[in-house]
Amino acid sequence: MNPRRARQPSDKPELARGFLGVFAYSRRALELVWTTSRPLSIALAVLTLLAGIFPAAIAYVGALIVDAVIAAIQAAPADHDALTSHALTLVVAEGLLVAALAGAQRGLSLCQSLLRAQLGQRVNAMILEKALTLDLAHFENSEFYDKLTRARREASSRPLSLVMRTFGLAQNGVSLLSYATLLIQFSGWAVLVLVLAGLPAFLAEAKFSGAAFRLFLWRSPETRMQLYLETLLAREDHVKEIKLFGLGPLFLQRYRDIFHKLYREDRDLTVRRDTWGFFLGLIGTAALYGAYAWIALSAIARAITLGQMTMYLMLFRQGQSAVSAILSAVGGMYEDNLYLSTLYDYLETPVEENAGTTVRGPQPDDGIRFEHVGFTYPGAETPTLVDVNLHIRPGQSMALVGENGSGKTTLIKLLTRLYQPTVGRILLDGQDLREWDETALRDRIGVIFQDFTRYQLLLGENIGAGDVQHFSDEARWREAGEKGMATAIVESLPAGYRTPLGKWFNEGRELSGGQWQKVALSRAFMRSRADILVLDEPTAAMDAAAEATIFEHFRALTRDRIAILISHRFSTVRMADQIVVLQDGRIAEHGSHDELMQLNGHYAHLFSLQAKGYR
Ligand code: ADP
Repeated sequence: MNPRRARQPSDKPELARGFLGVFAYSRRALELVWTTSRPLSIALAVLTLLAGIFPAAIAYVGALIVDAVIAAIQAAPADHDALTSHALTLVVAEGLLVAALAGAQRGLSLCQSLLRAQLGQRVNAMILEKALTLDLAHFENSEFYDKLTRARREASSRPLSLVMRTFGLAQNGVSLLSYATLLIQFSGWAVLVLVLAGLPAFLAEAKFSGAAFRLFLWRSPETRMQLYLETLLAREDHVKEIKLFGLGPLFLQRYRDIFHKLYREDRDLTVRRDTWGFFLGLIGTAALYGAYAWIALSAIARAITLGQMTMYLMLFRQGQSAVSAILSAVGGMYEDNLYLSTLYDYLETPVEENAGTTVRGPQPDDGIRFEHVGFTYPGAETPTLVDVNLHIRPGQSMALVGENGSGKTTLIKLLTRLYQPTVGRILLDGQDLREWDETALRDRIGVIFQDFTRYQLLLGENIGAGDVQHFSDEARWREAGEKGMATAIVESLPAGYRTPLGKWFNEGRELSGGQWQKVALSRAFMRSRADILVLDEPTAAMDAAAEATIFEHFRALTRDRIAILISHRFSTVRMADQIVVLQDGRIAEHGSHDELMQLNGHYAHLFSLQAKGYR
């Protein structure tokens, strides 16, 4: 049975088109806010409610003021003073309400700023946390990489936006409800007109939001190319070539061309969106002035008081802006939801969960076995490895030889379980690699790839990276540095092991290719518990003599371990106990140097070619 089981992809609902789709992710965004900060969430909810109710209360008091003033003007002299002070009290009350409204709005924007920081950090951390659980295959898949870029680019600001719009919707909803309660005393029709007049503009908004999102999806590869060009033009490790080959203007032009193409599409959409928005918005204005006339006529006919007329007009005007705020919030929420769907799409990417639990194999002295191993990269048509059979015992060394693209690195990726064989199996200590516990397996293997990472950190940390548990352990750095022959480099640097490497940060020192490789080699020696050490051409930048010395040294230090080496230098390769010649993913020849020379095949041919070069 295969212990690696794919977790069932969660049945993420397709974002429903239409109105309900607007709320598909609101609940999750609210949850996100709630779990990020409860006090802020509660404050937001309370302030939203208050900010929703105050405007109607202000309009209501405003009407009372007008009526009180008119009553005072028309009152008998005896009642005059009492009515005047009543009107003034109402004015003070309205002033207080306005101040309270301003306070609530300030509070809302304060909470929003605080939440923005927390939520942005939280979502970014979620994205990175997920990235840690992904397989190498995910990162090598361009479609998936698109998803990751999209999620990172927008989604950290979108959840807050969605939440704020949801709250804004609630706030305007409360306002509208309170306006409607007052306005319905004038006429139910007025309420209906209020709501219907905003509808066309909303439908247009929703339609264009969808179009904007589709645009965003389509152009993801182009945006990624733009980011890549930016990196090429603005990063120290690329500058050398870009300058010398004069590639700068060409890449910059490509960068501009992409912008212009995207801009044209954006502009067309924005122009259409705003044109429609304007004309449909006119319907709302017409409705407002129709209602204005109607309310004015009612006041002239003395069906309502002057105070009521002021109030209804204010209610209608503010109601209309609440309706349009609601509608545009809904349009924006639609957009936020679409963007959030990409975030959750990414976060819910099914990862293969490794159920392996073995920490020790049944035959500890059996070493590594490849049994009829075949491998095809996901999406590739032809296999990269075919029927590979190997056996390396503890204490043995093996060299992999073959042309570029013959599958050497792929074989190492399978051995380190970065990928799983598609055919056959790999055994470590007599136990299928798939059944090994992830950590136990990784602890056993130390690998330095040819494209090892040059961390822009301290030199010591660059070595310490080989063993997280001793990442900052200076004594261990020294020990590994000595084994990796990096001591001379360390001594030449001002702060020794505490010298920052790379040019990204202040005071950083850049090393030569060969020096970096010695640092990387020392990194391999940090893994003192690892009994399988793999060097995938990390010594290519050194001269042949240095490489041979290093390998000899490496062998001496790894006597009882398994050492696997990839190299194009036969002076090094010949020292290995067994040599495997890969051709197009198959083992073409296999044996010791002497055996292969005797065989007089491909290896012997390549060996004498290189030897000739040295003569
Ligand atoms: P070598 O290390 O011998 O130079 P590799 O193992 O890197 O060769 O590559 C072997 C073959 O697999 C090449 O043809 C290469 O194009 C292909 N290959 C390598 N990596 C990938 C990948 N991530 N996805 C698809 N094909 C790949």
